[in-house]
Amino acid sequence: MTTAFKESIKTALENDNLASTLGRFSEAYKVARTKAYEGIDFEALRNTIAEVKSFAASHQEELAEEFARNAEARGAKVFRANSPEAVKDYILNLCKEKAVRTIVKSKSMATEEIHLNASLQEHGIEVTETDLGEWILQLAGQRPSHMVMPAIHMRKEEVADIFSKEIEERLSSDIPRLVKVARAELREKFLAADMGITGANIAVAETGSIVLVTNEGNARLVTTLPKIHVAVVGLEKLVAKSEEIVPILTALPRSATNQLMTSYVSTITGAVPNLDGSPKELHIILMDNRRTEMAEDPKFKQALQCIRCASCLNVCPVFRLVGGHVFGKVYTGGIGTILTAWFDALKQSDEIQSLCIQCGNCSEVCPAKIDIPGLILELRRRLAVEQGQPMVQKAIFAVVNNRRAFHSLLRAASLAQLPFAREGFIRHLPLFLSDLTNSRSLPAVAERPFRDTIKEIKQPKCKEKAAFYAGCLVDFVYPEMGAAVVKILNKAGIEVIFPEKQTCCGAPARYSGAYEVAGQNARDNVDALLEEEVQYVVSACPTCTVALKEEFIHTFESLGQSEPIERARILAAKTFDFSSLVNKLVHDGRLKFKTDQHPGQVTYHDSCHLKRTLHAEKEPRELLTNAGYEITEMFEHDMCCGMGGSYTIKMPEISAPILKRKLNNIKATGAPMVAVDCPGCVMQIRGGLDKDRSPITVEHTAQRILEMLE
Ligand code: SF4
Repeated sequence: MTTAFKESIKTALENDNLASTLGRFSEAYKVARTKAYEGIDFEALRNTIAEVKSFAASHQEELAEEFARNAEARGAKVFRANSPEAVKDYILNLCKEKAVRTIVKSKSMATEEIHLNASLQEHGIEVTETDLGEWILQLAGQRPSHMVMPAIHMRKEEVADIFSKEIEERLSSDIPRLVKVARAELREKFLAADMGITGANIAVAETGSIVLVTNEGNARLVTTLPKIHVAVVGLEKLVAKSEEIVPILTALPRSATNQLMTSYVSTITGAVPNLDGSPKELHIILMDNRRTEMAEDPKFKQALQCIRCASCLNVCPVFRLVGGHVFGKVYTGGIGTILTAWFDALKQSDEIQSLCIQCGNCSEVCPAKIDIPGLILELRRRLAVEQGQPMVQKAIFAVVNNRRAFHSLLRAASLAQLPFAREGFIRHLPLFLSDLTNSRSLPAVAERPFRDTIKEIKQPKCKEKAAFYAGCLVDFVYPEMGAAVVKILNKAGIEVIFPEKQTCCGAPARYSGAYEVAGQNARDNVDALLEEEVQYVVSACPTCTVALKEEFIHTFESLGQSEPIERARILAAKTFDFSSLVNKLVHDGRLKFKTDQHPGQVTYHDSCHLKRTLHAEKEPRELLTNAGYEITEMFEHDMCCGMGGSYTIKMPEISAPILKRKLNNIKATGAPMVAVDCPGCVMQIRGGLDKDRSPITVEHTAQRILEMLE
């Protein structure tokens, strides 16, 4: 990671205004979004959008030809441009031919993508952005930090300063007054402009129409007042039929600005007369810029489904801390990382992809159903293939890949830590390791791993057997969690075996793009866990469970290894996370809670993988409630705690404020204890509370309910 990138993160984090503005916005956004979608089946809606856009991506060329035919039949000129240069040349030649000196623009990410303004201005053409946010940024000489609200990072006082300079009059930060100034200034520009440039939110092939969605009405003025209108349209905006506008327009305003509909929706079909009756020139540029290549890529084709609503940014715990400028030049947030890798260059995404904590908040709200975290992992994989892994990482994974060496190292760590460990925590580390204990204490490695202590648990002999997959944290740090799981399953008449050859689930390697290492981990674990015939494979770690249920298969697919996939599927079918399996056993009457128990108040933190990938949200809550706990929900109970596997080590400066927010939300409940289903989250939250010297305790759900069962 370059110093410049680290510096840009540091600057963003030190900007209190940015964090508080984006933090408040993100909180309000989620509430307003839920309200905007009331009465709408979001899953059904996004399935429809994904289907419509996926069809369009698969038939991009046919739809582009159909669009061009129909638009030209209605008087438009359609130009197909493969590269940003071709788009810019076309517009510059048109300006020359028509003696265009002034242009007004409405907001368009496609023109931002190719840096159109700079190129026009270099040729002496005056360009004015007419979206209020874009105009503010143009005057300030800044670039957008958000796809929908480009100036969200700015305070009204800053805007007042910028406008004061522009009109040479001292203005206060009174918003209605500032808007009035903008309206007066921009009106002059609209009336004088020789050309209007827009993008398009949708392009309909069967009619050759473009659809524009705005709240300020500026796109209407841009497309009607000047005698020439140029629309720059990315190929991903194509849909086949008019009726397909409906699902997109149902989702776009709700997801983008929490509105049921934007103030203006304009559909332009062919050239329309100018105000003086003369024919208007309508030029539509269908821009490729690697979209065709993207449509042919089996993994990244789905990114073309994006409707640019930016809801993925609004819910991202990292974006709301650092804002958009850290993410690069044009597109921001998770989807921006992917688009930058394609529209700019894979290399450009090298650093920004590391901002993703893989919490999955973005894909949960994406109305186009894009697996943004999955695509970022694929970027990491391709970057690792193209550039190789960093030396340190390579050395670490070489050890992880060797089960015996890895486990010996962890055993050795329990001795090496002795000078630093107190009361089960390492609170301070020396020298270059000190960052690791700045925001939270680390857990001490257990004296004896679970693979040793399980042998001492007296288990009944049962016909039904479960293999326990511990994962590194339960095995070597929190063996007591493993013991609780074994004892609970024993109560249900299930004997638990511990396949000794199990090893790391490969998540750290996969998240770093080191798929060869993850593949070796997957093969070792599939072999180990299928060695003995069992009815269930259970894990008390959701990240590991996701690896066993889904990621081993994906890893083999990505590596082009078809042979181990069948066995990985057999393993996946038997694998359960702790809460889902135990809740099922309770429902089946195989486990019973003691009656009349009142263990007190608890708050529950949803781990990202458990909630968003395994969809187990109610199961742990049912277990805790049936055990007699009174659950007080914390604010943002399903927001990441900042752990993110090795993210907390690679990005401690971002992980720390995310954890701080989580701790504040926990403390605000007044609950004396937190239940969590993920040992990684236990490590992060318990460590943070220890650092704060808080008396609040944190335990795995298994530990919370063990004593409450008959
Ligand atoms: S990826 Fe999804 S959530 Fe993000 S901007 Fe695109 S459509 Fe919206």
